[in-house]
Amino acid sequence: MEKIQMTTPLVEMDGDEMTRVLWGVIKEKLILPFVDLKTEYYDLGLLNRNATKDQITVDAARATQRLGVAVKCATITPNRQRMEEYPELTEMWKSPNGTIRAILDGTAFRVPIVLPMIRPVVKNWEAPITIARHAYGDMYKAVDMTTEEPGTATLTFKGESGAEKTLTVQTVDGPAVWQGQHNLEKSIRAFARSCFQYALAQKQDLWFSTKDTISKVYDGEFKRIFEEEYEASYKAEFEKAGITYFYTLIDDAVARVVRSRGGFIWALKNYDGDVMSDMVAAAFGSLAMMTSVLVSPDGTMEFEASHGTVTRHYYRYRNGEKTSTNPMATIFAWSGALKRRGELDGLPDLVGFGERLEAASLKTLEDGIMTKDLLPLVEPGFQVRGVDSWEFLDAIAARL
Ligand code: NAP
Ligand code: MG
Repeated sequence: MEKIQMTTPLVEMDGDEMTRVLWGVIKEKLILPFVDLKTEYYDLGLLNRNATKDQITVDAARATQRLGVAVKCATITPNRQRMEEYPELTEMWKSPNGTIRAILDGTAFRVPIVLPMIRPVVKNWEAPITIARHAYGDMYKAVDMTTEEPGTATLTFKGESGAEKTLTVQTVDGPAVWQGQHNLEKSIRAFARSCFQYALAQKQDLWFSTKDTISKVYDGEFKRIFEEEYEASYKAEFEKAGITYFYTLIDDAVARVVRSRGGFIWALKNYDGDVMSDMVAAAFGSLAMMTSVLVSPDGTMEFEASHGTVTRHYYRYRNGEKTSTNPMATIFAWSGALKRRGELDGLPDLVGFGERLEAASLKTLEDGIMTKDLLPLVEPGFQVRGVDSWEFLDAIAARL
């Protein structure tokens, strides 16, 4: 077979531990035999981040801005324990995902991989529900305090111009607890744009929900900015693509989501997204089957698995064990990146390859061959067999 050609490279960010091991095997068995792969390679493994004083992470993010598509392997975010495990570390380097998200000004979308033999807990969910969580502000950048005596709290903004705005929060007759939250108009706008861009790329409806009946000004601002962006920049494209933008109160959204068949994107404020993404992930079955896409307001996309480096499996692998680590989310990160590259460059063969890679992976599971983490999730009546990661990847390659 002649290899499928690429015109523009994509950014490849290598990572750590078990996912780094699988990264190499996925490329060797599933991609390099079929695609004349062009990547700009950045080694985000912990030791190389240390050696470059984390410049490599910044370089990888900049390259992503330039090339428009990236695929990322899971990486270690060092903590105290890691500082002991890797004594050569000169600093407790920040989360690479945090650094990349800040540079790309992006929103992370969490997408479950669904298949017929693993039914979600919610039986009527037939297609994936993608959660888009706003990643800035609100409770996550709030200030809090407690007070002990009767009194009054006020909220004051002092402008650089000298102008001031003050509100009374509450007058209390005893001990109380307080919180001050904020968000930025430019961050909300970037969030809205990323959501509209991703909905267009996926050709899926976009839902957005807040509590604007109660939080009329704060949540009202989110609602207003989404509407403004939609009307000004996306309405025509949505109509052309046959998809809809739908705003509803979060209480109503929760009820509709549970009764839905799935197959849409649900955008949520920071806290709502934090809670709902874990709820939806748990209901769909497994962290190992959850992918993640970071989307910039300009449509730049970085694809990755939602899970971490699977440290416990890596330690067993280092002791010579062929582990049964699930590579599905990492494979789908690669297929997502190749499809996006193909779409941007007008390469239907590359898009087709990404689709075939996904189909071959799903077919392998449907044929009952899977990593052991999935065995307990399979519905009764299906014949299944647990294999190690290498056997699983060979089975996909055979179908591909
Ligand atoms: P994790 O790597 O997601 O693994 C937690 C556990 O979930 C595993 O021990 C395993 O359970 C199960 N699991 C996760 N992915 C799996 C897969 N593909 N196949 C089979 N089982 C899977 O989370 P963690 O142990 O909390 O974090 C490990 C490292 O990853 C940390 O250094 C953290 O900083 C990093 N991390 C990176 C990212 C990222 O780069 N995006 C995200 C999260 C965490 P069993 O051991 O019971 O089989
Ligand atoms: Mg959470």
